[in-house]
Amino acid sequence: MKKTVRDVEVRGKRALVRCDFNVPMQDGKITDDIRITSALPTIKYLIDHGAKVILMSHMGRPKGEAKMEYTLKPVAERLEELLGQAVSFISVPEVVNQQIVDAAGALKEGQVMLLENVRFRKEETKNEAGFAKELAQLGEIFVNDAFGTAHRAHCSTAGVADYLPAVSGFLIEKEVKFLGDALENPQRPFVAIMGGAKVGDKIPVIENLLKKVDTLIIGGGMSYTFFKAMGLEIGTSILDEDSIGLAGELIKKAESAGVKLVLPVDVVCAKEFDNNSEKKVCDRENIPSDMMGMDIGPKSVQLISDELAKAKTVVWNGPAGVFEMPNFAEGTKKIAEALANSQATTIIGGGDSAAAVEQFGFADKMTHISTGGGASLEFLEGKALPGIAVLEEK
Ligand code: ADP
Ligand code: MG
Repeated sequence: MKKTVRDVEVRGKRALVRCDFNVPMQDGKITDDIRITSALPTIKYLIDHGAKVILMSHMGRPKGEAKMEYTLKPVAERLEELLGQAVSFISVPEVVNQQIVDAAGALKEGQVMLLENVRFRKEETKNEAGFAKELAQLGEIFVNDAFGTAHRAHCSTAGVADYLPAVSGFLIEKEVKFLGDALENPQRPFVAIMGGAKVGDKIPVIENLLKKVDTLIIGGGMSYTFFKAMGLEIGTSILDEDSIGLAGELIKKAESAGVKLVLPVDVVCAKEFDNNSEKKVCDRENIPSDMMGMDIGPKSVQLISDELAKAKTVVWNGPAGVFEMPNFAEGTKKIAEALANSQATTIIGGGDSAAAVEQFGFADKMTHISTGGGASLEFLEGKALPGIAVLEEK
């Protein structure tokens, strides 16, 4: 177990907090502030417990230059509104200089300041010790609450922990609890659903999950590579040519591990990759040579729903079809609905899967929706995430 802000004395201390304020922006305005509101519990806890709060984050890809379209000023303003108190923000291209050191030193208990975008410094993404030290000198304790960047070893996510005691905030605590418990200590039957476009990206995740789950369901674009490995014809469906061999090996691995592997038995085919394309349902053995699979068919939906009904823990990554097109969203929607109605612990990982659940209105019915696309995938792969590995053990 990793230490959290609850496990250390923060009163009177300068707490250097890594948040994920990488919010979507348009014309200098924040279009969605969920990442800011998600960070509030940790920030408020620190304020309420008398810490001197120094926040840091990246936004976008300024590539090591102080490009002002990536300034965190709008975030500071939004934070002031949400917290109902002043958030001091001094924009300097070097992120840390003497003025910033003095401002951090002058903070009183419960006061908050935000640093400029840490990626204005090219050292940040290289995790260079010099910049990590500059940041670390501002605080007396490091709090990491940015799960979305926890799979990256950068100065602000990992490097600073070489110089400061490091603990997690509430967001990382929650991610580690749900993703970690699912992998290490799941209530069984434990079912994983994998989908999405390509197999290649997710082979390591499938391999790790095969060691843990009772049932593995494959849907979405990646099914066609499995179909190909089984000797089926897939028409013009998306194919990950380089992964056909690996898909075949995974089928054998599932068998020898005693994992039940469930692949779609029917698919919704279309002539073109277009919502308005002519479509029809076919069994997987009968995909026409001039059509592509865009969604799972009704028999597959039934088969998958039956498996989900037995599950006590479900991890879902990757949509079952091209859910962005309403005519091919049904399979993904039905899976989301089955999970929403299930008593199982339901965990959603992956950016598009989370978006799908959100879009269909089932988000508040899931046990946990992971906030980090790449980070949650690496977690599910069984990799140690640098931003979590550096945190102190209880
Ligand atoms: P996540 O972000 O949840 O990890 P991915 O990024 O791997 O998921 O995959 C999501 C994408 O997969 C979506 O854009 C979806 O349209 C696409 N996809 C799903 N099924 C198919 C299919 N049959 N053919 C082509 N693309 C598909
Ligand atoms: Mg994605």
